[in-house]
Amino acid sequence: MSRAVVALGANLGDTASTLAEAVAEIRALPLTRRVVCSDPIESVAITASGPDPSKPGYLNAVALVETQLAPTVLLRALNDIEARHGRVRLERWGDRTLDLDLIVYGGVTSDDPRLTLPHPRAHERGFVLVPWAQADPGAQLVGHGRVADLAARLLGEGR
Ligand code: ADP
Ligand code: MG
Repeated sequence: MSRAVVALGANLGDTASTLAEAVAEIRALPLTRRVVCSDPIESVAITASGPDPSKPGYLNAVALVETQLAPTVLLRALNDIEARHGRVRLERWGDRTLDLDLIVYGGVTSDDPRLTLPHPRAHERGFVLVPWAQADPGAQLVGHGRVADLAARLLGEGR
């Protein structure tokens, strides 16, 4: 079993139901067990040009997943769940019914643009770090230290 961390985000439709359904679908994946999800948090939409409070706000959560699915197989399964929730990819960082990002997969590192691990922006995203620290207070992010410390620093900066 490998321990993976999945970030969930939604800013269109019934976001709370979408996140709850997505967690149930992750829990139902083959070769996967012990899916623990954080409480949901609200965050401001981030676009290519920065935070945009005029866009619908996000609901975010982080799920801790124990799985034997290989990283690329897990990402494909997450993309299938996104698609089932009506996700269409129109623009990068555009509004979406569901975004599922793979934040870490065990100690795996990869700079493949199709699956970069750890996720290259996780260390600076409060909407990932805050729920992740809640779900796993001892979590470490390779190269960046304790997730709880990173989250506290961002909250201190008001992000
Ligand atoms: P966003 O960056 O807003 O999450 P998308 O969800 O549309 O945008 O993902 C864009 C691309 O990022 C996808 O084609 C996917 O293959 C790639 N990608 C690279 N690393 C990861 C990762 N760790 N988790 C999820 N997607 C990733
Ligand atoms: Mg994504």
